[in-house]
Amino acid sequence: MLVNIQSELDRLCVETGTVIKYNEPMANHTSLKIGGRAQYFIEAGSLDFMSKFLKYRSDDAQMFALGGGSNILFSDQGYDGYIICTKGLGQIREIGDLASDEIMIEAEAGVMLQGLLKYVKDRGYTGIEGLSGIPGTVGGAVYGNAGSYGCEIGGLVREVTVINKDGVIRDISKNADTESGLTFRYRGSNISEDALIISTKIALKRDSSERVTDKIKEIFEKKKASQPIDQRSAGCVFKNPQGDYAGRLIEQSGCKGLNNGGIFVSNTHANFFINKGGGSCNDFLILMDKVKEIVFKNFGVELEPEIKIVTSGNVRCGRINL
Ligand SMILES: Cc1cc2nc3c(=O)[nH]c(=O)nc-3n(C[C@H](O)[C@H](O)[C@H](O)COP(=O)(O)OP(=O)(O)OC[C@H]3O[C@@H](n4cnc5c(N)ncnc54)[C@H](O)[C@@H]3O)c2cc1C
Repeated sequence: MLVNIQSELDRLCVETGTVIKYNEPMANHTSLKIGGRAQYFIEAGSLDFMSKFLKYRSDDAQMFALGGGSNILFSDQGYDGYIICTKGLGQIREIGDLASDEIMIEAEAGVMLQGLLKYVKDRGYTGIEGLSGIPGTVGGAVYGNAGSYGCEIGGLVREVTVINKDGVIRDISKNADTESGLTFRYRGSNISEDALIISTKIALKRDSSERVTDKIKEIFEKKKASQPIDQRSAGCVFKNPQGDYAGRLIEQSGCKGLNNGGIFVSNTHANFFINKGGGSCNDFLILMDKVKEIVFKNFGVELEPEIKIVTSGNVRCGRINL
């Protein structure tokens, strides 16, 4: 049975120019460099592949959409099923003018967010400069409503095109009048976990290229000074609780430098956990539990994860070095 699935998949991948890897270590595809082997790792380079694959696949194995892997903690035990990485969908198009000072662009899911920033800066389109320095793809950013410095990508998105697990393609627009429209919340959206984002329409305003460039630079410099951007992390581990900052609560609880195995609470920004080498998913989860417990004891605040945790029956054991 497995042999049949593999030969069918191989045939489809050759036909559509798609890369497939079997038993691929997820550590190769996450910014934390953590994660066991995925049974099937597919770098979807075209919509043609995705719709054929989703319509005709003959098994019901689970599926996970992956962008740049910069917001993910992946299980050490790996993943039984399909990882569909959308990084190969990398086109940006201009759709046209919305008003005299507004422009609509369409970015495919695999466009790197920093590539999109370069595109808009070269043309003098303003609105997303606050996303300067955020790694990962447009698909991941839209799914999780990535944001910083008062800018969230969801605020600019007008429409997303998704493909569901049966291969049906659908546009979902923001529509204030219906409940079925696209909505965003703090670090999230109502896009179904079963859907793969293919592309996104974003509305921007016109400005001068110099002003946009300066703002992008300014924000990047601030991030460089306050975040461990050159180390292995997945960005902020916990969401900010209402009216406060998870980083402040963790720092004031004395957790900076706390570690479990190879995973450390960053000394630069306490809401970033760093893999200094050899750290596992299990090490990370234990450290998260410990930090949550300490913050709750000190402030009575229950921290919630911001990173997406993809585990299969995680075993939590180990020792925390205080
Ligand atoms: C140094 C550093 C700094 C960071 N700073 C910030 C910051 O300032 N603000 C912020 O919000 N985040 C930040 N992050 C976190 C991360 O970069 C963002 O959340 C980013 O938008 C994730 O995009 P990705 O492509 O890497 O998504 P992934 O990590 O690959 O996936 C994240 C989620 O999106 C889903 N997803 C990905 N692609 C698709 C798709 N095509 N269709 C459907 N679902 C999809 C995945 O299933 C998963 O649930 C930072 C991370 C690092 C390492």
